[in-house]
Amino acid sequence: MPELPEVETVRRGLQPAMERARFAKVEVNRGDLRWPLPKDFAGRLQGKTVTGLGRRAKYLLADLSSGDVLLMHLGMSGSFHVFQEADGKAIGRYHHERAQHAAHDHVVFHMSSGAIVTFNDPRRFGSMKLVARAKLDAEPLLARLGPEPLGNAFDAAMLANACKGKRTSLKAALLDQRVVAGLGNIYVCEALHRARLSPKRIAATIATKTGAPNERAERLVEAIKAVLNAAIKDGGSSLRDHKLTDGELGMFQHRFRVYDREGEKCPTPGCRGTIKRIVQNGRSTFYCPVCQK
Ligand SMILES: [Zn+2]
Repeated sequence: MPELPEVETVRRGLQPAMERARFAKVEVNRGDLRWPLPKDFAGRLQGKTVTGLGRRAKYLLADLSSGDVLLMHLGMSGSFHVFQEADGKAIGRYHHERAQHAAHDHVVFHMSSGAIVTFNDPRRFGSMKLVARAKLDAEPLLARLGPEPLGNAFDAAMLANACKGKRTSLKAALLDQRVVAGLGNIYVCEALHRARLSPKRIAATIATKTGAPNERAERLVEAIKAVLNAAIKDGGSSLRDHKLTDGELGMFQHRFRVYDREGEKCPTPGCRGTIKRIVQNGRSTFYCPVCQK
């Protein structure tokens, strides 16, 4: 399931194809994604220009010249593919190689840039929605989201205040999108390992009784930012190296320190621990019981 770094990589991959380009034609092959696409979806996009492509948590936000914002979410299995219309070869390859998956190409954007952008989603948990820019602050999908972890507003004071008095585990607190937006199971495990904090630790212990940050909160915020930035950098190199040769924008190769590494040696220098897997709130947690306290 894509998390913030994957979505940010998709955004950067889509930017050259979509930003400042007009929707020349929009095809909807299946409108029943996680929610049905809005009425006249294609009509509200066709002829409009994408004035900017942004991101909020795991949502892509395309600002349109009409004053609408196109909200897009990859869900569990969504991905975008970009092909150049001018390149006959790419189109041929697209039809050939992608034929077996084409049934899952639910939405196809033909952009005035010459790019064809397809949204493919076998499980259809992804979604697209049109919201007036003026009403974006009240949009229920976004309204309750916490701060962006890479934004300047997200710091130890803010995280400690959000965890003040919380008796849940630190892992559960970080997965709560109201505490911090866009983190999922993988990067929470990675950040906690980097911060040397146990995922089982009570969330309130990163704050004083009054909600001021302690040294653990400082370490954790630093680790969250470092883990996300490193993953976004890997996503960027996969875009640059053209590893995504079939035009796919979605998951990319990133080396995790603890995630999915049960039984392996802990990568913390000097630590002799072994990565352990436990289940918290129904989901796997990977951590080192020796150096994560
Ligand atoms: Zn360790």
